Amino acid sequence: MAQGKIIIVTAPSGSGKTTLVKRLLQECDYISFSISACTRQPRPGEVHGKDYYFYSEEEFKKLIDQDAFIEWEMVYTGKYYGTLETELERIWSAGKTPLVDIDVKGALAVQQKFPGISKSIFIEAPSIEELRNRLLKRGTETEATLKERIEKAEYELSFAPDFDAILINDDLEKATKTLIETVKSFVES
Ligand code: 5GP
Repeated sequence: MAQGKIIIVTAPSGSGKTTLVKRLLQECDYISFSISACTRQPRPGEVHGKDYYFYSEEEFKKLIDQDAFIEWEMVYTGKYYGTLETELERIWSAGKTPLVDIDVKGALAVQQKFPGISKSIFIEAPSIEELRNRLLKRGTETEATLKERIEKAEYELSFAPDFDAILINDDLEKATKTLIETVKSFVES
């Protein structure tokens, strides 16, 4: 596999990661979003091959058997997510740096798989209360999935020190600027 560098971004859900990543991608055309595979249902507006490769559980398990994933995981009950090796190759062969936006366990797995050529960034919401408010505002969760996401976030926060950089998203403008600077200096190094 022809390897370039990799940016790994992770965060408990509701920490504002999606907004920050969107802004980074708009600003830096040498970074390309690595589209994950997953088995959850698309949300309104989400597109296969843009937001995710949406697969059935059967299709996903076939890809596991074919050893197609750099990492994969059951991120939420019954819902699989994974980073396809072909996706990283697609981006590298276009001369760009992939950005993988994945959960904490997956991020640690990618970091261990690509030492030296990866930069891992952990994005933190200012507090669990703020995180709950952001998830409520997004309005995509039921009471049960909200509870699961909060519990997972609390657990994931304990892994922050294992990452190359921690970014606290208390001010969107400031956090965007820091993220862009961190990525730029890594890609140019
Ligand atoms: P959502 O369902 O909100 O799109 O994503 C749920 C979680 O799955 C997020 O924490 C997201 O970062 C994570 N995720 C997305 N793609 C992947 C992947 O390829 N691998 C892993 N391990 N997690 C992923």
